[in-house]
Amino acid sequence: MDNKQLLFLSKISEILAKELDTFELTQELKTSLSEYKALNSIRLYVYDSVTNTIRDCADSWSIVEDSSSIYQAFDNINGEDFILNGKAYKLPQKISEVSFKLNSLFMPIIKNEKLFGLIDIEFEENTSVNMEFLFLMKIFASQVSLKLQNIVLNEQSKINVEFHDSMKNIAKIIETQYELNYIVPLIGEMLDRFITDHLIYVFLKQEGDFKLVWPKACKDERIYEALEQIKPETEYLLLNNDKIGAFPLISEEGDISGCIVARSTLDALSKRDISYLEQLTRQSAITINRANSYSKILQYATIDALTNLNNRRQFELRLGQEIATTKRQNNPLCAMMIDIDFFKKVNDTYGHASGDAVLRGVAGIIKSALRESDIPSRYGGEEFAVLLPYTHIEEAKIVGERLRKAVESTPIEINSEETDIKSINVTISMGLAEFNKSETGEELFERADKALYNAKESGRNKVCVI
Ligand code: GH3
Ligand code: MG
Ligand code: MG
Repeated sequence: MDNKQLLFLSKISEILAKELDTFELTQELKTSLSEYKALNSIRLYVYDSVTNTIRDCADSWSIVEDSSSIYQAFDNINGEDFILNGKAYKLPQKISEVSFKLNSLFMPIIKNEKLFGLIDIEFEENTSVNMEFLFLMKIFASQVSLKLQNIVLNEQSKINVEFHDSMKNIAKIIETQYELNYIVPLIGEMLDRFITDHLIYVFLKQEGDFKLVWPKACKDERIYEALEQIKPETEYLLLNNDKIGAFPLISEEGDISGCIVARSTLDALSKRDISYLEQLTRQSAITINRANSYSKILQYATIDALTNLNNRRQFELRLGQEIATTKRQNNPLCAMMIDIDFFKKVNDTYGHASGDAVLRGVAGIIKSALRESDIPSRYGGEEFAVLLPYTHIEEAKIVGERLRKAVESTPIEINSEETDIKSINVTISMGLAEFNKSETGEELFERADKALYNAKESGRNKVCVI
């Protein structure tokens, strides 16, 4: 071996020692190899035995089209060492001095004595090479082969780890949130991220029927047919040439509480997809079951766990009491509805934990801006309802405006892990209404909600009265 070849091999070893993804690996190999021989392209392909397709590793593992000549190369290389300019050869025992022109070169990637993938190199037209070069390329191929197998393994386990982390985050969220309407879309979003080649639908069983909770619509009749076939003992169900997979969510009591469905427009579900979906479904079921038992326990609670304000149930109770007192004593009473502006953006930008911190922060400001006799509650999501007993609307406006300003000017600590941002400012919109004796408590808050709607419509960060 001459110096140039040794240098090339040591460069390749250097590359293989680095932590790279398949795209970076291909780029680096191309750079080093082209320092040695002029070439146009280098590609790495892996054969996916589950779907019978070939995947382009550096191009996000996309499926190579049926018409591509790569499929032919896979067939032709069987047991041989190279395909040189379209013909398959074995490497001879001895190096001879013969040199020849090389345009295209395929080399097999072998795993457990089976064809695992292909290295496809296109040289500049009529590049001259000799036998020794082919020996060198054979070493190159076996080194790349090992690296590629490692990367494939790593990319799989990385997804596993990321998935596990996401589930942990969701588990954290349900410590303070137990409304399935809030949790399930989070699970849906996450599944969507991990099963990229397929569409994901999440159904929950409500009053005996499967109701779609993620995403907003599902028009595929076959999915509903699949749901009908599910029984409690069903592990999972594959339909339509394995392009639809239904994975039931099982409750603690062993009943079906919902179903996760994956649907593909292209590929059948691979073994890997199925194994992910099984894990994901199991985890999701645990999370949903936990949320269900939380909501059972919290039926008796009066305080919202996240904000420490009254919860919705307690709010309804206090509303009834205050209306009765007001009617009896002829005192004034006002209703205040508050909604955080652009709150979805907080979640999307800084993460849900930061969203929760903002909810807690705003709740704290609300509490400190009110009087002892006022009754603040978390009405739902990022909405707060406040009862202001012994208060006329003019006074309520002053209190409301003071509160709006306080929120606007108080930075809330979020310590966002996602963005490294420590604190942010948010604003609220508010609707106010004064009780009139001809209405119910519910009607009073409906009017306050209308006023809130006007505040949103007229630009947010506002107090509106009705
Ligand atoms: P607008 O100014 O019109 O009110 O916009 P918005 O983004 O605040 O309104 P929208 O109602 O679209 O978004 C409310 C979001 O609040 C959606 C939901 O994901 C989020 N949310 C609801 N409850 C919670 C919670 O307990 N914690 C967190 N982090 N987010 C929540
Ligand atoms: Mg809202
Ligand atoms: Mg809002």
